[in-house]
Amino acid sequence: MSAYPKLQLYINGSWRTTDDDLPVVNPSTEQEIGRVPIARQEDLDDAIAAANAGFAIWSQTSPKARADLIRDAAALMRERQDEIAHSITAEHGKPHAQAQAEVIRGCEFFEWDAGEATRTYGRVIPSGPGVKYIVHHQPIGPVAAFSPWNFPMSQPARKIAGAVASGCSIILKAAEETPAGAMHIAQAFHDVGLPPGVLNLVFGVPADISSYLIPNDSIKMVAFTGSTSVGRHLTGIASDHMTPVLMELGGHAPVIVCEDTDVKAAGVTSAIRAMRNAGQVCTSPTRFFVQEDVFDEFLEVITERTAATVVGDGMEPGVEMGPLANPRRINALTELVDDAIECGADLLTGGARIDRAGYFFEPTILANVPAHARVMQEEPFGPIAIVNPVDSLDTAIEQANSVPYGLAAYGFTNRADYADEMIERVEAGNLSINTLEASLPETPFGGVKSSGYGREGGTEGLHHYTVAKNVSHSIKIV
Ligand code: NAD
Repeated sequence: MSAYPKLQLYINGSWRTTDDDLPVVNPSTEQEIGRVPIARQEDLDDAIAAANAGFAIWSQTSPKARADLIRDAAALMRERQDEIAHSITAEHGKPHAQAQAEVIRGCEFFEWDAGEATRTYGRVIPSGPGVKYIVHHQPIGPVAAFSPWNFPMSQPARKIAGAVASGCSIILKAAEETPAGAMHIAQAFHDVGLPPGVLNLVFGVPADISSYLIPNDSIKMVAFTGSTSVGRHLTGIASDHMTPVLMELGGHAPVIVCEDTDVKAAGVTSAIRAMRNAGQVCTSPTRFFVQEDVFDEFLEVITERTAATVVGDGMEPGVEMGPLANPRRINALTELVDDAIECGADLLTGGARIDRAGYFFEPTILANVPAHARVMQEEPFGPIAIVNPVDSLDTAIEQANSVPYGLAAYGFTNRADYADEMIERVEAGNLSINTLEASLPETPFGGVKSSGYGREGGTEGLHHYTVAKNVSHSIKIV
C-alpha cells in the first residue's frame, strides 16, 4: 500500500512547507494522516510573481507543445493511478475503486483539454480588398482557482486542465481537507517539465487566500467550484475588479420518473447513483418526482437497494459507500432529516449517523416530503434521496424547477413527447434522459440560476480562459 504523501505548497516549480499547518484526517477512522501547510502572505506574493513569469513563457508556447506536455503528465498520472487513488481514499474516504475511476476521469479531462488547446480557432471576417479582420483567441492571463474536497483529484484537474491547455498560468487553492489529489497532479506536471510558475498550488485559510488573490491586478480570471454562498461571495470580490469568473456551484437535481419507464431498472440505478460518493456530488440525483401509477413500485425498489448499500472504510473490498468527508456534513444532514420528519415526511430507511468511528451516515430515503421541508429547497450534499409522487409530467416539471438551483436534471421515459417536454422546460445546464451520468469531458458542464455561470469541458470549456481579440489590418494607411 502506498504511503500518504508529505503535504507541501508548490510555487514557482518547487515544493515548500511553512511553519503553520492544519491536520488532514481520514474520515473513515478520524485519525490524522498528515499536516497541510498554511500559505503566508509572502507565499501568495511568490505565487503571484511566479504566475506572471509562468504566463509570459506559457502563453508564448505553441498549443501543440502545451498539448504534448499535458498528455505526458496525464500518462504519468495513469501510471500512478493506484498510488493517487490510495491517497484519495485515505483523505476523502470514498471506495478505492471509485477513487481509481476518479483518477482516470481526471486524466480524461486533461486529455480532452489538451486536444482542445490545438483547436482554439479564431475566424476571418469578410472584408474589402486590402483589409483583413481576424479574430484571435488569446489566453486570458494568470488564473486564481479554488477546488473543493468532494473529488480531490478530478476537481483540481478540471481547473488546471482548462488553464494550462489555454496557455494561462494558474494559482490553485485546493481543498485543505483533501490536499493530496492536487499534489499528485502538480508532481506529475513537475516530472514532465512544466515551466516553473505555470502551475502553483497553495493551501491555507480559504477566505484569507481568496480575499488576497482575487483583488490582485495580476489575476485575470477566477474559477471556483463549491457552494452557492461562497461562489456568490467570490463573484462579488471579483466584480469589484471587473475580473471574469467561472462558477460551478451547488445543485439539487430533480429526477422525473414517468409511468412508461422500466421502474425496476430506474429504481436500482437511482439508488446506486444517489449514494455514490456518499451523495457528495453537485449532480447527485436528490429529488425524485414519480408519476403516481408507478410510485409505490419505484419507492420499494429504490428503498430496498439503498438499504442494501455496503457502507464502510473505502479501503475494504466490496464497500460501495464511504463516510462523509467531514463532521460538518453529519450535523447538516441530521438537521435536514429531523426537519423533514417534523414536517410530516416518511423516513423509509436510514436517517442517522452510524454508531462507529468515522463520519458515517446511513443511506437515507425520505418519501412524501412536504414542499415546506428544508430538504426540498436546500442541497443535502449527502446520501439522501427524496421520493415524492406527482399526478402529471406537468407537475413534475413545475416541482423540478421550483428550487433556485439548475445544474443537473434527469428523466426516465421512453416517450418522445415526454422527453421533448423535459428538454424544452426543465431549467438545468445538464439534462440526462435514461442515464444518471451528467457530464463527460467532451460535453459542456455547468449550471443555470444559482448553480453558477460558465461551462467546463466540451468545446465550450476553454472559452473562459481565453479572450477574443479582433485584429483589423489594412495594407494601406487609411
Ligand atoms: P463551504 O461553503 O464552507 O465550502 C465549500 C467550498 O468552498 C470548500 O471547498 C471550501 O474550502 C471553499 N471555501 C469556503 N470559503 C471560501 C472562501 N472564502 N474563499 C475560497 N474558498 C472558500 O461548505 P462545506 O461544508 O465545505 O461544503 C458543503 C457545501 O459545499 C455543500 O452544501 C455543497 O453545496 C458545496 N460543495 C459543492 C461542491 C460542488 O461540486 N459544486 C463541492 C464541494 C462542496
